[in-house]
Amino acid sequence: MKGKRHSLFEIKKTILVVDDEPINREILSAILSNDFNVLKAEDGKEAIDILLKEEQKIDLVLLDVFMPYDGREVLKDRQQNRKLKKIPFIVCTSDKNIEEECFHLGVNDFVKKPYENPDIIVARIKRMIELYEDRSILKEVEREKLTNFYNREFFKKYSQQFDSLYPDLKKDMIAISVNRFRLINELYGRAFGDKVLLAITETLNKCLENCRGIVGKDGGSTFIIYAEHHDSYEELFNKLASSINNVVGDIGISIRLGVYPFVDQSMDKEIVIERTESTADSLSNDYTKNIAIYNEEKQAKTLHIEELIDSFQQALEEEQFKLFFQPKYKIKGDKPEFVSAEVLIRWISPKFGFVNPGEFINLFEENGLIGQLDSYILEKAAKYMGEWKKKYGLLIPLSVNLSRVDIYRPTLVEDIIRFVDSNDIPHSAYNLEITESAYVEDAKEVISVVNKIRNSGFKVEIDDFGSGYSSFNTLIDLPFDVLKIDMQIIKSMDRSEKVKEIIKMIINLSKTMEAVTVAEGVETADHYAFLKENGCDVVQGYYLSRPLSLADFEKLIEKDLM
Ligand code: C2E
Ligand code: CA
Ligand code: CA
Repeated sequence: MKGKRHSLFEIKKTILVVDDEPINREILSAILSNDFNVLKAEDGKEAIDILLKEEQKIDLVLLDVFMPYDGREVLKDRQQNRKLKKIPFIVCTSDKNIEEECFHLGVNDFVKKPYENPDIIVARIKRMIELYEDRSILKEVEREKLTNFYNREFFKKYSQQFDSLYPDLKKDMIAISVNRFRLINELYGRAFGDKVLLAITETLNKCLENCRGIVGKDGGSTFIIYAEHHDSYEELFNKLASSINNVVGDIGISIRLGVYPFVDQSMDKEIVIERTESTADSLSNDYTKNIAIYNEEKQAKTLHIEELIDSFQQALEEEQFKLFFQPKYKIKGDKPEFVSAEVLIRWISPKFGFVNPGEFINLFEENGLIGQLDSYILEKAAKYMGEWKKKYGLLIPLSVNLSRVDIYRPTLVEDIIRFVDSNDIPHSAYNLEITESAYVEDAKEVISVVNKIRNSGFKVEIDDFGSGYSSFNTLIDLPFDVLKIDMQIIKSMDRSEKVKEIIKMIINLSKTMEAVTVAEGVETADHYAFLKENGCDVVQGYYLSRPLSLADFEKLIEKDLM
């Protein structure tokens, strides 16, 4: 070692020399004392005493064979003791036959008697100590402290080895997690959480006595198991549940168990583990089931949903959400007259391609992202109206869809006013569509927000009318300016005369409420003719136009309005 640096490596290691002949002990001491601390024992019994007392301190044992309480007896004792097994033993002997015997007793190396080259002896001892240290460090990294199961990285490695050991065995990957483990730790303390994990650990260890497999521990409370296939995991689940119960009592600690059956050995274990864990996690909010078996189709769907959510922020920043415009036509005169449009969102993603709103609106409503998206659309719509006003000298009214979630955002109305005013648009040209079912859900709250919107001068359209459950008499209390007949009702017109009567009724009702009537999903000349004949004011649908991109919509403006 260079210079006089003090580091851990310069601390002298301790060697226990065991020999019944004083002269041998002295020779060895002389050889070793420069590089090591030397402890001495006169026979096997004393050696064991010292080892049991000072096992922490001793780094290596140099062991004579023939003495009272034979060296081989010491080696046998060592094999019974986990701690002593961590200390390397070198046997000093001149007898070749003894060597083989000792080898079977787990000895690590031999030194020839009589002692010849001291440097070689010292070098040998040093190398052996190093080897052993590396091994115990590796052991520590390989395994998780609490449970002594492999960590994720080593679990993967060993599951590969498990495959090569049993290539023909059908195997499953299993993930077991404690539900709401973090909360349990917070409520009852870490020591309590550890107890739960140890109960699982003990049960798994027991199960593995009768079953070929390996266990790993992944993060907070997840155990991963790679083991021979089982048709059912009910029994394992029950064992685990009752062992937890035994330890912590019945305070409602539950586990979830995910299984990926018949693992394809050529598959990357990382992927198998991920799928198994997310199969288990699919039960996180399910109080009726504790065991889930991997299902490719379902998993792919969940994965896709997660990906969509993960991509949202970037998509918003990169303006991947595009506004499309579906023209609305007045139908009083001989020809339909293009008067306004509904804004419909499209997600054009470099990763997923063209994503329909049907695929992501509900999803984003569930996790609250819809607020950000609708804000963006509300602002963009106002901006386009401002641009057209400048470019064409025309005010083209737009209708923007509001989600039921938006309605509960306290700043909604102020936001809309700001977007519209900063583009110098009259409020009366900016419309908001709210689906009928949102009105019904929390009528009071919705009505108060709708009133606020209307009092600020915007028009409100009740969307999908006839799909919700508002009865005609509650309708009287609902504030709105436009009634949009649900697309499904228009479609059903083809099937039944009765539906036609219902449509007539809705149109009359809308007139009574002094609202404008819009029919959407108008796909055929028959639809169009019927609606015109019965006094519907405005139609929207594929018959007249599909939703258009900005460029196509501007072409329509130039063609029809200029
Ligand atoms: P919606 O508000 O009822 O929109 C009408 C849907 O009918 C649109 O589907 C439109 O493309 C489609 N459509 C129009 N004419 C016809 C037709 O003649 N036949 C048929 N079969 N369909 C027609 P889209 O664009 O897929 O939107 C689906 C839903 O997603 C919308 O239903 C709306 O609830 C929601 N949505 C769309 N854009 C937004 C948005 O910016 N914000 C919010 N919150 N929701 C939106
Ligand atoms: Ca709509
Ligand atoms: Ca609609």
